[in-house]
Amino acid sequence: MRGLMQDWPLLCHRIIEHAARYHGTQEVVTRSVEGPIVRTTYAEIHKRALKVSQMLQRDGIKLGDRVATIAWNTARHLECWYGIMGIGAICHTVNPRLFPEQIAWIINHAEDRVVMTDITFVPLLEKIAGQLPSVERYVVLTDKAHMPQTTLKNAVAYEEWLAQADGKFEWQDFDENTAAAMCYTSGTTGDPKGVLYSHRSNVIHSFMANSKDALGTSSSDVMLPVVPLFHANSWGIAFSAPAMGTKLVMPGMKLDGASVYELLETEKVTHTAGVPTVWLMLLNHMAAGNLKLPHLEFVVCGGSAMPRSMIKAFVDMGVTVRHAWGMTEMSPLGTLAALKPPFSDLKGDAQLDVLQTQGFPPYGVQMKITDDAGKELPWDGKTFGRLKVAGPAVAKAYFKVDTKILDDEGYFDTGDVATIDPHGYMRITDRSKDVIKSGGEWISSIDLENLAVGHPAVAEAAVIGVFHPKWDERPLLIVQLKQGQSATREDILKFMDGKIAKWWMPDDVVFVEGIPHTATGKILKTALRDQFKAYRFPNAAA
Ligand code: AMP
Repeated sequence: MRGLMQDWPLLCHRIIEHAARYHGTQEVVTRSVEGPIVRTTYAEIHKRALKVSQMLQRDGIKLGDRVATIAWNTARHLECWYGIMGIGAICHTVNPRLFPEQIAWIINHAEDRVVMTDITFVPLLEKIAGQLPSVERYVVLTDKAHMPQTTLKNAVAYEEWLAQADGKFEWQDFDENTAAAMCYTSGTTGDPKGVLYSHRSNVIHSFMANSKDALGTSSSDVMLPVVPLFHANSWGIAFSAPAMGTKLVMPGMKLDGASVYELLETEKVTHTAGVPTVWLMLLNHMAAGNLKLPHLEFVVCGGSAMPRSMIKAFVDMGVTVRHAWGMTEMSPLGTLAALKPPFSDLKGDAQLDVLQTQGFPPYGVQMKITDDAGKELPWDGKTFGRLKVAGPAVAKAYFKVDTKILDDEGYFDTGDVATIDPHGYMRITDRSKDVIKSGGEWISSIDLENLAVGHPAVAEAAVIGVFHPKWDERPLLIVQLKQGQSATREDILKFMDGKIAKWWMPDDVVFVEGIPHTATGKILKTALRDQFKAYRFPNAAA
């Protein structure tokens, strides 16, 4: 027997419709790419998103066509986002931090017909436009006054283009499994891979994101997503915040400590989300000026492991820290470290121990850890295994790639290595390709990095496995010191000694000027492995 409830498809554009209808006057504040702070509302964004749909349709864009955005977090980007999805076209968010050749590869692979871009990226696009045969038009997200001279094909200023629409347009219903958005993984090896979200997966993910143990904002909160729309839907915030009628503060292109601080302060932001690098810049800025953020209640941090010292800095400010793990293929939320019983009342180091884990999944994500043969491993908080996941917002295949990516039980191998404890808290110990294999045992590079950055002179730390004639691999600690600070190899090793098993201690410490990062802010271990290819440990007797 079938249920007798309505067939109401889960469609992304219904989210902004809801925001406009029930939270129409709620503000969306943007630090515009042109400079000034610009204020609009959900009602206005909805109205203009309909115009975007109308204009795209007039330009011949239809269901299933790909429209790229290469843009910062702004209200205009949000309008394009919903306008594209509302007609069943696919919003392809392109990460501008990738190399130009990768951007060209991705646009060609997706066969984007229109590119909507901020003025910032016009010079970059001009360089590669000759290699982009599928692109018919470029819409530059600005007004006539700020429109640059450009050679881009059929280029038009967004405001002029939008002014041609009368807004008499309505979004239709279609199958909720229709593709809504796509995002390519940054792929440190091999070609980038396209993850194709559906309307259904995005809406379900926004419910997950809005649960209290996840991001859980309300209509009286103010959310500043530092994490970009091009990084897995700004972790779903572009859907979850309008769904709740949460005021949004969009930081545009200025993500340095001072600029983010200014917005957090002046807009009385309660909730914010970003990668550890962003919080490092903010905390440094605040420490230098002895600044406070009395309105800030909740900081989400993910994308890379959140260092313990950073968690402590926020906890000491009275801010709730939500360490999150996920990936593009998961829309992206996987787990979040809320404090559940029996851990709710913990204090001090015991509390930090739990907050530092990657947490447990919201309803809608299932996890398991297995050995290399696929056999499930125990949830004892100690045994490391390959982390695999399943759920309605987890990818089952990549765009235009035939390879099977799920195991026989329908689980996706995340490429991460993790432990899970009896309460369901997961702890990432490494990427499977970064884990250090020393004498047949595994050493977590992430644990060593987290420990090393706790040293007061260390700005950033990376650990790679380097060949060792006896142990196969041993850990090499690569350190970037804070400006104006000094520390020796011995100081750092002494700081780490006693805090980890003896055989996990790095065999050497080297100092570098800077640590390379991927386009999504992760440490680029492939580049470091390359850089230290010829390195040999001083203690390694052949
Ligand atoms: P991306 O698809 O670019 O978001 O990258 C996903 C990968 O980032 C994951 O598979 C992890 O390796 C890493 N990652 C994300 N969040 C965390 C975290 N909180 N701790 C450690 N690694 C993380």
